[in-house]
Amino acid sequence: MPTLTLKFGGTSVGSAEAVAQAVDIVAGIARNQRVLMICSAMGGVTNLLIEGAQTAAAGDGARYQAIAHMLRQKHEAAIRALVDSDVERIALHDEVEALVDEFETLCYGIYVLREASSKAMDKVSSLGERMCVPVVSARLRQCGVPSCSVSASRLVITDDQFQNAGVLFEETGAAVRRELLPLLDQGVVPVVTGFIGATRDGVVTTLGRGGSDYSAALLGAYVDSAEVWIWTDVDGVMTTDPRLAPDARVIPVLSYGEVGEMAYFGAKVLHAKTVQPLVERGIPVRVKNTFNPAAEGTLITREEHAAPGTVKAVTAIGDVSLVTVAGRGMIGVPGIAARTFSAVAKRQANVLMIAQSSSEQSICFVVPEAKSREVVAAIKAELETEFGRQDIDRAWADDDVEIITVVGVGMLRQSGVAARVFGALGEAGVNIIAIVHGASDYCVSMVVRADDTPRAVRAIHKLVVLNGDAAAR
Ligand code: ASP
Ligand code: MG
Repeated sequence: MPTLTLKFGGTSVGSAEAVAQAVDIVAGIARNQRVLMICSAMGGVTNLLIEGAQTAAAGDGARYQAIAHMLRQKHEAAIRALVDSDVERIALHDEVEALVDEFETLCYGIYVLREASSKAMDKVSSLGERMCVPVVSARLRQCGVPSCSVSASRLVITDDQFQNAGVLFEETGAAVRRELLPLLDQGVVPVVTGFIGATRDGVVTTLGRGGSDYSAALLGAYVDSAEVWIWTDVDGVMTTDPRLAPDARVIPVLSYGEVGEMAYFGAKVLHAKTVQPLVERGIPVRVKNTFNPAAEGTLITREEHAAPGTVKAVTAIGDVSLVTVAGRGMIGVPGIAARTFSAVAKRQANVLMIAQSSSEQSICFVVPEAKSREVVAAIKAELETEFGRQDIDRAWADDDVEIITVVGVGMLRQSGVAARVFGALGEAGVNIIAIVHGASDYCVSMVVRADDTPRAVRAIHKLVVLNGDAAAR
């Protein structure tokens, strides 16, 4: 019997009604398939946990206690509504209570020290998933589905880069097979915490915000799932953000490469690393709506479907900054780019796109806005000699920009797509500050003024994405 891995995000387990709905879906599928279930924390809980730790670190000794109270109420209400058996209720109550106590103890420590290390932040932010999965699993049992809850800290083994841990694949694969396969073989539905892992020594880590998609992909890959389904609160991956363009539509089929590019460039569809464990094995992903399960959703596969002259989506990413290093003396001097980027890397800033003018008089690249000041200072320090000789005149950051990315396979092979994108922007009166076309066959990215973003997205969506869609039919 094939195994399906089903992941439910925060809104899909955000209330007692949502959990009941999610469990109905799982129970239906578990009738004739082996099911592995992954859950996020109940919607909003991770944010509250983080807020509790941060306010404690800032010297507020009351806020985390108020949050602890809210966490108790939210989970207790879910337990009351979802589970009838007194024995189960008492066990769940104790489990949630112990975790909320742990939250308070941790926050008290943070409050006393006035410091929340990233290790402590992981310990705190992992609690939401751990509070949620026992409740979901108990509801499954109540619906007659054999189930148990499992903490991913025994399964997902990571390095110690807290808050964005790197997975140790071999050890994780071995642990997942050892712990989960026997359960699946017995017809039990394991309900596993998304988002969290642990180091070899058992110290809790997390995979970064939104990381439970990635958890599902990892676990799904190692139990050899037929497919991984990501259950969320929208009908699938959209052609653009519906808040920017109300005529946004669901994209029926996407390739791994396309969705990877979209996740990287701001579409809040899937955690950026999600498809990585699945690509090699060719395991398809489906994105589906918990609250509208009849909708087809989006299928993400290895196959690439390129309809001539079309692009699939347009996304925007804000909170970025364009850093430029410029100077006439840069011409023909080898190593400036390398030194610039090594200075950037030392500040742990992620470079989202790079462009160099062909005359070599400037290099510009995009980094997260929060890092822009630091990055510029680091570059000035690294290239001090060149500044002194006036080979380089300036290094500066422009925070008032956003990146717009047009996604669709075959971008490089099709002629005319870029022309249509630029035509749409011209018509909307949007000035393009920088362009990267060529780094990936899946996308063209442009830097525009932040103010221009909504107009630019709407114009590209209307004239290129939807228009192309109609032409392809
Ligand atoms: N609960 C975590 C978060 O809010 C992980 C997830 O939901 O994917 O980031
Ligand atoms: Mg998510």
